[in-house]
Amino acid sequence: MVNEKLKIAVKNAKYFLLDMDGTVYLGDKLIGSMDKTLEKLRKCGKKIIYLTNNSSKSEQKYQEKLKKIGLFDGDDFVYTSGIATAEYLNEKYKGKTVYLLGTDALKKEFVKSGINLVEDKTPDICVLAYDTELTYEKLCKFVTCIKRGAYYIATHPDVNCPHPEVFIPDAGAFIKLIEASTGLLPAEIIGKPFGGMGNNLKKRLNAENSDFIMVGDRLHTDIAFGNACGFSTILVLSGESTVNDIGKTVGKPDFILDSLNDIVDYI
Ligand SMILES: [Mg+2]
Repeated sequence: MVNEKLKIAVKNAKYFLLDMDGTVYLGDKLIGSMDKTLEKLRKCGKKIIYLTNNSSKSEQKYQEKLKKIGLFDGDDFVYTSGIATAEYLNEKYKGKTVYLLGTDALKKEFVKSGINLVEDKTPDICVLAYDTELTYEKLCKFVTCIKRGAYYIATHPDVNCPHPEVFIPDAGAFIKLIEASTGLLPAEIIGKPFGGMGNNLKKRLNAENSDFIMVGDRLHTDIAFGNACGFSTILVLSGESTVNDIGKTVGKPDFILDSLNDIVDYI
């Protein structure tokens, strides 16, 4: 049975915010005929924005992966928690000096967006990202900076990152390590489930809440993010969550689909 409310939400939406793993692909495999589904959405004027908390890779790297599997079109864009953090710093802390615990790829994106990155131990702000090139030296420098009073921001809170064999430590695990050593926690976290990326997108696109539909497979990140922003949310059952998980954690989906491919019934 077609849900009339979902039909209206789809009709009103201009932007589909899509989580990636578990929502449009699983590892390297498309979920059903997702390429055709997204093409149908684009054909009826919907813009696709891929949202990821992973701040270790550049926008370019994600674009390449999506292009390779037929999920990226010229008008789409990828929005990472790393880029969102750079935008937030430019808006709220323009000109402040920043020490970044992050990959070289993210450093390049920060520099490109005009962030004043420094390597000394007295920055105004410290940003913790998913640093897959982490060294003990970088970790010690970060801890020294925040203990000396630098303002502490994290790109996202995920404790683990999906990986084919076992889940591997993500930025949230680094946050816990730093907390164990210093007792300090980030003053602000930008990525899902917090609303930072949504606020930035609303400003960037000059859009309203009803212009967005957030689609994802995780209740406590994707759906909770949509709830925090006031966007319509669709939980897809093609990844981590099952119907039984609803109500057991944060994140209340407005709609549930077996996979995003079922959206074609609502266009
Ligand atoms: Mg996912």
